[in-house]
Amino acid sequence: MPAVSAAARAAMVDRLRRAGCVWAEDEARLLVAAATDSRTLAELVARRAAGEPLEYLLGWAEFGGERIAVEPGVFVPRARTALLVEAAAAVTGPGAAVVELCCGSGALTRVLARRLDAPRLLAAVDLDPAAVACARRNLADLAVPVFAGDLFAPLPVAWRGRLDLVVANAPYVPTAALPLLPSESRRYEAPMALDGGPDGLALLRRLAVDAPEWLAPGGHLVVEVGAAQVDALAAVLTGVGLVPTMVRDDDLDGTAMTARRPDAVAARRDEN
Ligand code: GLN
Repeated sequence: MPAVSAAARAAMVDRLRRAGCVWAEDEARLLVAAATDSRTLAELVARRAAGEPLEYLLGWAEFGGERIAVEPGVFVPRARTALLVEAAAAVTGPGAAVVELCCGSGALTRVLARRLDAPRLLAAVDLDPAAVACARRNLADLAVPVFAGDLFAPLPVAWRGRLDLVVANAPYVPTAALPLLPSESRRYEAPMALDGGPDGLALLRRLAVDAPEWLAPGGHLVVEVGAAQVDALAAVLTGVGLVPTMVRDDDLDGTAMTARRPDAVAARRDEN
């Protein structure tokens, strides 16, 4: 960490603030702590002032009280996604088998590993090789496997019908709304982490269709969604035989849906 005079720090804060960083003082402090010497610090400040997300410059993002490693292009965990952790914890009992799809950095799995009561199985999946590598880094010490592939496809078939919780912050931004995202998302995050197709529900719809066959009876799918998409997603979930419940947190500006696989339907299916 380079020594920075009070005057240099004030100039740095001023530059960040003029570039539109609302929390310029905090950001300056974090960038100073992240820099090895004054030349690196100058570079980091210049890149931040040019609009690069703070998290990519630091190499980590804070989520659920943990430092999660993030790599260029990999979706930066959002504060609002803490709602998924709470919604998942509320519907998941002890010793659960848990899979995170569209895991990005693996932040959700990392925090769920601590938050849930002794899960017996944890695994994560992503299609983007950069995300898979990043999640492997974040989950290595927990020995959680990270599979590369599309939604449920890369999971062992033996897990079919046995998952107690499937959680996903899948992309749900309608393609036409992508240009309206903050430039930090638009310019630096992989579009595939954000683009949810024409109505934003393309991925969530596919996920919903496959979920009943992977969930255990009484198991839950828990996903984040845009507030305007709740009714459409609830109809999709009901249509595949799941029982959806909306969860909303205004402080976090987050919306989640939990969807339960009913025991009764499962029992009827097993008889056939
Ligand atoms: N812009 C949304 C967010 O910041 C994108 C989330 C998503 O598509 N999963 O929460």
